[in-house]
Amino acid sequence: MDLQTVVYLAQIAGAVCFVLGLHLMNSPATARNGNLLSAGGMVVAASATLLSLAVRTGGVGTIGWVIIVVGFLVGGGLGLYTARNVQMTEMPQLVSLFNAMGGGAAALVAIEDFVRITGAGGAPVSTTVFVVLDVVIGAVTFSGSLVASGKLMGLISGRPIIFPGSRLLTIVLAVVTIAGTALLVLGAGGAVTLDGTVSLVVLGVILVAALVFGVTMVLPIGGADMPVVISLLNAFTGTAVAMAGFVLDNPVLIISGALVGASGGILTKLMADAMNRSILNIMIGGFGGGESAVAGAAGGPGGSVRSIGADDVAIQLAYASSVIVVPGYGLAVAQAQHAVRELAELLEEKGVDVEYAIHPVAGRMPGHMNVLLAEANVPYPQLKEMDEINPEFDRCDVALVIGANDVTNPAARRPGNPVSGMPILNVDHAKSIVVIKRSMGRGYAGIDNELYVNPKTGMLFADAKEGLAQLIAAVKAL
Ligand code: NDP
Repeated sequence: MDLQTVVYLAQIAGAVCFVLGLHLMNSPATARNGNLLSAGGMVVAASATLLSLAVRTGGVGTIGWVIIVVGFLVGGGLGLYTARNVQMTEMPQLVSLFNAMGGGAAALVAIEDFVRITGAGGAPVSTTVFVVLDVVIGAVTFSGSLVASGKLMGLISGRPIIFPGSRLLTIVLAVVTIAGTALLVLGAGGAVTLDGTVSLVVLGVILVAALVFGVTMVLPIGGADMPVVISLLNAFTGTAVAMAGFVLDNPVLIISGALVGASGGILTKLMADAMNRSILNIMIGGFGGGESAVAGAAGGPGGSVRSIGADDVAIQLAYASSVIVVPGYGLAVAQAQHAVRELAELLEEKGVDVEYAIHPVAGRMPGHMNVLLAEANVPYPQLKEMDEINPEFDRCDVALVIGANDVTNPAARRPGNPVSGMPILNVDHAKSIVVIKRSMGRGYAGIDNELYVNPKTGMLFADAKEGLAQLIAAVKAL
């Protein structure tokens, strides 16, 4: 077997690992192994690529190898450092930065290839299409992901940013990009005559237009929608990488890019569905101007808020037969996942049946609550998806809401407000409701939660971790 065949087989093996890894990520119980298998596939694919470089006629040269090794060390080191140190709540902005890197790298590969083929007298239409699409998608992803990440980091305002003429500018940029792409493809087909320099200038114009388009596309989108946008840009990154695979004639890049593109697209659709919005509606903007958005839960019932102390809550919990814990973004911010497991174990020792209600968009990224609670070794069978747990609220003695807000807001059942139509957890069906949060502060949708003025609700105003510590002490003292 010659070395090139070994390289191809290794690339296929890497691609198989990606597919199986994705499959294992279907369940929290196997997700960790899925991640490891995919990482293993990446090692195999990268090794195969290095091997193919080593055996390629002409070779890479000393400087080339130095760049590759330094790139591996710097990129790998930064990846390892950020992955180990990132807070779970900062994950969306990290994913967005990684998307920017993926898109930018794919665009650079295509630019290098375009310069090379232009110097060699041009390329066939098929290659030109992939190269130009790679530049366009990669550049849009690069700048769009940087803006998305800046919004989530608070470096750029989370509110929709719309300036006079911004929509027109976006349309003009899209037209310039499409026209430039068409010109280069027609040039490659011989329908118009373009010399090498003109082709490079046209590609430069396309590149700048796509970069600015990425910025003007993401700026008008509000902070609450950013995770969906990041997922969409992730799908773009995958598509750009697949294009780069065609350019480089590398099957593992095509397969992995297609997997990222398809799974990113499906995830975007699932997230939009869980928020009862269409992707188009999200891209056009409107909902969720970030933490500071102000809007009333139109037509909601008024009422007074009842504050409750930890000792009273402890008595309710300890003498309940069933408790449903409803975790939300605040639990993640407070890093209270270990404390909630400790409280649940104490209650179980007293014979209380404890389950966790997982809303598909609780927190700030898909699966946020699953990951958080798995980290604290909460048993998987206790984590119940929304459709499964919702009927159980009617029989539940106490619903313990910890740092969750929008996903419990009954206003979603009425039209005319920003969460209208979003499926919610039926917390208000429980016999008694306890909410742990720091204040009457709003959630990401920026509206008041009428659950808090429900006569059955007691508010334990505290940071989630501190509130849980008070409850643990109070239950132990009973
Ligand atoms: P919310 O954002 O609605 O509310 C979180 C609440 O946590 C706040 O009201 C805040 O109140 C409280 N909180 C913050 N810090 C703490 C703390 N340290 N201790 C205790 N409480 C705290 O969260 P949900 O999880 O209910 O809903 C998620 C929202 O994010 C939904 O609107 C969803 O559509 C949106 N979203 C989620 C995505 C996902 O993939 N998961 C994707 C896109 C959007 P206070 O300040 O008073 O403490």
